[in-house]
Amino acid sequence: MLDLLFPFLLRCPVCEGAPARECLPWCETCRSSLQRCPPLCPGCAGVGCPPVGPCSRPWRLFAPELPRPFRIEARYLLVGAGYRLLRDWKRRPGRSSSRFILSPDPSPTADWPLGETPVLVPVPQHRARSWRLGHHPAGAVAEWLGRQRGLAVVPALELGPQPGQAGTRQARLNREARLSQRFSFRLAQGQPVPAHAVVVDDFLTTGLTARAAAQALRAAGTRRVDFYFLGFRPELSRSELTRPEASRPG
Ligand SMILES: [Zn+2]
Ligand SMILES: [Zn+2]
Repeated sequence: MLDLLFPFLLRCPVCEGAPARECLPWCETCRSSLQRCPPLCPGCAGVGCPPVGPCSRPWRLFAPELPRPFRIEARYLLVGAGYRLLRDWKRRPGRSSSRFILSPDPSPTADWPLGETPVLVPVPQHRARSWRLGHHPAGAVAEWLGRQRGLAVVPALELGPQPGQAGTRQARLNREARLSQRFSFRLAQGQPVPAHAVVVDDFLTTGLTARAAAQALRAAGTRRVDFYFLGFRPELSRSELTRPEASRPG
């Protein structure tokens, strides 16, 4: 029935164009704007650093508090129409759209240190948010990645104590501190401490959520923490691309 009616009734939710059968509800243009994320630098979590050798943005280390080395992987770039498409999937995942977004990943399985098999730990989601979205995107990404790579998904984290009502002390905290308080996690009750965990989340934007999750695992005794994201927003790389030549560092 849907096949007969479309494309007369359905519109691509990103651009309002006519949707394509292979990637309902999106159109072919939006589908093709979904870009694979290039390898991310484990130093600055950015793109464009040399694959071997030192990070070219050492002033912008990602999670300097974590022991190195660790891996940061992302499947898609959060840019342009591809970003709007992923955001749309996050809000309203459908059977067809999930099949398309979470399609088999041809990238090679990560080479972990000898004798280590990490577990995948999805970043927990606030109950109000789960209710609003009706699903848990980070959990869905972790389940998919687990099937791809033969790794177990362990809900090792739960939400920690949330900050109280705004008081005088709260008001004095800077933005970063307030944000990191909002994302406070702890080891979930009854869960064993994973020795090696991959923190899985849907989007890497500020990195504060993923770092808070990693810190909670470290505090519980996890030795090594790596990261996997469905989407990565190359904010730093983009601003460097648009910055005038003269003000570019070194
Ligand atoms: Zn479209
Ligand atoms: Zn780098």
